[in-house]
Parts: sequence; structure tokens; C-alpha cells
Amino acid sequence: MARKSISLAGSILFTLFLTYQILTALSGLKNTVFPETYLVRTALALAGFFFSILGGWLAFRIVGGALFAFFGSVMVLFVWSVSGISVFIWFLLEYAGVCFILFRTDQYFENQIAGIGVDREKYQNEKNDLEIAHKTKGEGISILFEKYSTYYNLRKRAEELAGSLSVSELAKVIVKCAADFISRGNVVILALTDTKAEHLSMIAHQSVTRREKEPEELRQSGDLFDYWVIKNQRRLIVTDAHQDFRFDLKEAARLERLRSLILAPLLHERRVIGVLRMNSTESGTFTNDDLRLLDIIAVLASSALFNAALFEQTEELAIRDSLTGLYVRRHFFDRLKEEHRRALLTQRPLSLLMCDLDHFKDCNDRFGHGVGDLMLVRIAQILKDASENAIVARYGGEEFSVLLPETSKEEAHALAEKIRRTVEGEPFEIRRRPIAMTVSVGVANMPQDALDLESLVQKSDQALYQAKRQGRNKVCSNAG
Ligand code: GH3
Ligand code: MG
Ligand code: MG
Repeated sequence: MARKSISLAGSILFTLFLTYQILTALSGLKNTVFPETYLVRTALALAGFFFSILGGWLAFRIVGGALFAFFGSVMVLFVWSVSGISVFIWFLLEYAGVCFILFRTDQYFENQIAGIGVDREKYQNEKNDLEIAHKTKGEGISILFEKYSTYYNLRKRAEELAGSLSVSELAKVIVKCAADFISRGNVVILALTDTKAEHLSMIAHQSVTRREKEPEELRQSGDLFDYWVIKNQRRLIVTDAHQDFRFDLKEAARLERLRSLILAPLLHERRVIGVLRMNSTESGTFTNDDLRLLDIIAVLASSALFNAALFEQTEELAIRDSLTGLYVRRHFFDRLKEEHRRALLTQRPLSLLMCDLDHFKDCNDRFGHGVGDLMLVRIAQILKDASENAIVARYGGEEFSVLLPETSKEEAHALAEKIRRTVEGEPFEIRRRPIAMTVSVGVANMPQDALDLESLVQKSDQALYQAKRQGRNKVCSNAG
């Protein structure tokens, strides 16, 4: 803008200056006898219009140039008419030539500028395209990476789930898995149903935010949302528990800290064996993607949990006596080894009771084997009830062993006496007829009677034998 004004102002001033020069030269030309100097001055002044034309062109391109060329031409015609010298007419052609050159130059620059503009636009478009491509490529890579890492982690967790055969350990892995994958909300809860799928009991929970304490509702055995999932055998998302008309709103409002949640059933052979859920104290915490992911974890978890439960059941069956539910002799020896090692390490006493029913053969003979069996079940119950930390096993037919960790010989003796009295004092009833039964018990203690396993068992056996010899229904502990 400033350049334009300067060019225009310069041209106008210069034109005025030239006009003045021409006028004075013309008056000089008329009054002198030596016109050469004035002729040259006039010619120079007319030639000076080239600069005015250039200035005009710089200010307003070809319009400005033509304007000053026209003014120059008027001056040429004026000079010619005043002086009568026709040679000045050539300036008209020269002005036209200059205008033509400027016109071409203008066109050339226009084309150049237009070309640059087109190129600029092209480069800008290319730049935009590249930027978009780069961005989508970047996004694509990050989405791909996120997906890959999710699948990789999921696979790793699935392997972990498949590898564990303990229900409690598995439960911990499952809730941790959900908390890691869907790190929203407050807490993940895993609950298992009972055999009739009527009651739920929580077996593991994990807080998503480290600060979260165990919420109050965790201790309850399932709420309306759990039972909806059990009943419908479908996953569920609740974005605001206080406004979801599928549920009893009063009941939902009672769980005031609970606003949004996602739940997925653990299904096995079309039966709900448990519910995996995530709670949040804020509404709208979870998305449908979160629910889908929770469902995948629940599917993986259900088969792993079912296998683990089956394994634990089978294992339990292998170590339990089917009639009495007590440990079998083989498992008893495993536990005895374990407790013996622990006693040696901790320098704590370990006692062993060996119990045998008195004249049990007679009982069988008189009342039948069935009654004998019921008698064994009853004795097993008395032994189990006798002490909380006792490890009770069916050692043989009607012979039982009771292992008492961290129990002195005196305490063991007292316990044996209590057992003996209980058996004696509570006659077994069959068809309203009481059947008397007694038991003989041998007591042995480590370190008092023996230090190694075999000797401990042997000493208790010997004490039992002694009790039998002393007339049965006795407790003996002082075997030599
Ligand atoms: P004692 O006082 O000397 O121990 O006499 P007892 O009759 O108990 O002696 P014994 O050890 O000879 O008899 C054990 C009997 O226990 C023999 C067997 O019929 C019975 N018995 C072993 N296992 C079972 C069982 O599972 N059920 C029943 N009903 N009886 C069993
Ligand atoms: Mg016996
Ligand atoms: Mg016996």
C-alpha cells in the first residue's frame, strides 16, 4: 500500500516537474535564435515521461502506466503543435512501446504469481493429505497396538486361569484381571452361587482404585442386580441404579453408594455358577465395551472355576473316608509327616491318640452291620467335636487316630478322657433301645514318648493295647 502511494505521488510530482520543464523550454524555444539547447531540454523532458509511466505502472499496473503514457502523449502533441517540429511524434510510438513492454511484463508476473498460487495450493493440499495420512497412520498404529496388547494380556491371563486348580487362587486372579483390564469404577466382585443358584457368596474382591476399602455391600450375599443376572442368565449394564426402571428403585436407592455397574454371569452347562461384577459410586462409569470385556473374562473364568472346583472335590473325595467323612489313613500319614516336621522346627509338642471301639465285633453281630456303620459315624462326630485343631482320621475299620498339634501329653490325656466319657455317657439309640458303646484310647506324645514318626505311632498303639489289656473303656498314656 505504501509502495503504491509513493509510486503514484512520485509520478505525479515528476509529471508536474516535466510539464514545467516543457513549458519553459517551449517559451525559450520561441524567443531564441539558438534553439538547440531548448530542443534537447524538451526532448529530455518528454523522455522523462518514461519514469512517470513506470511509476504509474508500479502504482496501478497497466492502468496507471497507460494513464501517464496518455498524459505524455498529450504533452508530445502539445509540443508538436506549439513548436511545429514533427520529430517529437516518435515519442508517441516509444510510449506505446513502453506500455506494451510493461503490459507483457505484467502478464508475465501475473502468470508467475498465478503459477506460484497454484503450486502453493497444491503443496498445501499435499501437506494436508500428508498430515491426515500421518495422523490416521498414527491412530491406526496406536489402536492396533492397544488391541494387540489387550489380546496379548487376555491370552496371558487365560493361560494363568487354565494353569491354576485352586478355587480361591483362581478367584483372586479373576478379580485382578477384571480390575486391570477395565480400570474404571471402584471394585470388582466375584461371587459363586450355591448348587440351587439361590444364594450367592462372595469369594473374592479387588479394588480398582487402590484407596477403596471393602464396601459394606460386599458382605451381603448378592443384591437385586445379581439376582437379575442369575434369573436372566445374561450380562447387565446399569448406567444409573437410581433411575433404572427395570429395578425396584426404592431397593436400588437403599444401596446409595452404588450408582453404575456391570455384571456378567459365569455359566456352566446353562447354569449360572457365579456372577462377576464391577461397581461404581458414580453414574455412567462403564461402557458397552467394558461390559463385553467383562463378559469375556467371565467366560474364561467360568470354565476355569468349574474345573478347579471339580478338581478340589475329587481331591477331597480321595482323602476322605466315604462313611465317616474323616481323613483316610494315607492322608493321615501325610499330615502326620507335615505336623512332625513343623513340631521339630518350632520345638512345640505333638500328641497322638489312637482310639479303638471295644467289642465292636459283638455290636455288629448282635445288631447288624448297618447299625455298626451308624455307630462308626457317631463316633467320628464325637471325635471331630472334641477339638477344633485336631486332625482326625479313620485309621482302620473301627480304629481312629487323632493328631493334636501343639498339645502336651497332659492336655492330650485330658482330651482322650473327655472322648472316652462322651462315648460312654451317650448311648447310641436304635429303635428306642440304647446300645452301650465304649472306646479305649492310647496316648503318645512327642517329645516325651518318642522323637520320630514311627515310634510315635508305635507308642500310641502300645498304649492302646495296654488300655485294652487293662479292661477296655480306658485311656492309657504311660506305655513303657
Ligand atoms: P476289641 O475290643 O478287642 O477291639 O474287640 P473288637 O471286636 O472291636 O475287635 P476286632 O478288632 O477284632 O473287631 C473289629 C471289627 O470291626 C471287625 C469288623 O466286623 C468290624 N468292622 C471293621 N470295619 C467295619 C465297618 O466299616 N463297618 C462295620 N459295621 N463294622 C466294621
Ligand atoms: Mg475294637
Ligand atoms: Mg480294632
